[in-house]
Amino acid sequence: MARNVTKKVIRAPISIHTWGALRRTVLPQILPDELLRRWKPYQMGECNRCGACCQIQFQCSFMVQEPDNLTHCTIYQSDHAPQACLNFPIDPLDLHMLQREIGNRCVFYYEGAPEPIPRVEFAMIVARHLVEKTRKSWKNRKRRPVFDSNN
Ligand code: SF4
Repeated sequence: MARNVTKKVIRAPISIHTWGALRRTVLPQILPDELLRRWKPYQMGECNRCGACCQIQFQCSFMVQEPDNLTHCTIYQSDHAPQACLNFPIDPLDLHMLQREIGNRCVFYYEGAPEPIPRVEFAMIVARHLVEKTRKSWKNRKRRPVFDSNN
């Protein structure tokens, strides 16, 4: 047992699963919704709650085992659910990275594909989105009431 846990800890930084989770955490921060969700119309299958994705490196402590080999996540519906879990699968690469870890136990698959976007256009869309996001965040910051230090 201790040996297995040690192996998992050592393996974590070089695991494909870690990189997949990191990708799912970072992409929602930089991509506009139309890019982040562009594979959704082609995504098929429904989560069967097998829980395989919640037990890759460690068994997630928020995962609850239920009868009939089903699982559920106790924080998935809450504000504390990690982006890495909420956004799975983002695209076929994301699904492929997970399936390399758990075989074909995950039942999602893709049929068809969105129109490819040339790299320059893709970069322009992302850049415009980030500029707009930053502008909005500055505007909101300015609107916040100033704390009166005399009170
Ligand atoms: S591995 Fe796939 S089907 Fe199983 S719980 Fe995770 S998302 Fe659902």
